[in-house]
Amino acid sequence: MYIQVKSQNRRADPRSLTIRCPNCHRLGTFQLISSDVELQIDDDKVVSTRQCPNETCANLVFFVYSASTLEIVASYPIERLDFDIENIPPLVANALEEAITCHANEAYMAAGMMVRRALEELCRERDAQGKDLYHRIEELKNRVVLPKELFDAMHRIRLFGNDAALIEAETYHRVSREEVEVAIDLSKELLKAVYQYSNLVERLERLSSEQKNSTR
Ligand SMILES: [Zn+2]
Repeated sequence: MYIQVKSQNRRADPRSLTIRCPNCHRLGTFQLISSDVELQIDDDKVVSTRQCPNETCANLVFFVYSASTLEIVASYPIERLDFDIENIPPLVANALEEAITCHANEAYMAAGMMVRRALEELCRERDAQGKDLYHRIEELKNRVVLPKELFDAMHRIRLFGNDAALIEAETYHRVSREEVEVAIDLSKELLKAVYQYSNLVERLERLSSEQKNSTR
């Protein structure tokens, strides 16, 4: 749940805290709404309630930060990676949304599994069948047009999110934040290419045919 307050109470604050807003997902420098909502709790840590600079959002986020370095120790609601779900089928989008939630909560192994799940859902939605995900991705090559590099990336993500293989190889403790972020970014590009570019091309084609009709 998000709380909105009127923006006229804001004042400029040199101690800028920049995050991607958990509500509107835009990157912003969060403003102090009043000195009453900021409190130094020890030699260095400050707790502070701040407001999203996006006027149409203006939601409040609770921060703990270092007074000396301005490094953000914690924020709530948690900052999330952005993800545009437009035109992406719900089951595919939900899996990647859940991966992003796991990432925000530092559950990187679970995030990896959910990224892999998004690939499973993509194959299912495009009816790419096969005995396992390797073969389903290979079949997907006959069903969607993508650069070879993106198919190679899918195989990397397939291995990355394979919980059984991870546990067997005892590598699960090595799944890092950065690896998860790369896997999520690659998946976003993949979904963009499959669902969002085609939508844009269709819109462009529709516009040019409308133009042709109107000039006839
Ligand atoms: Zn916002």
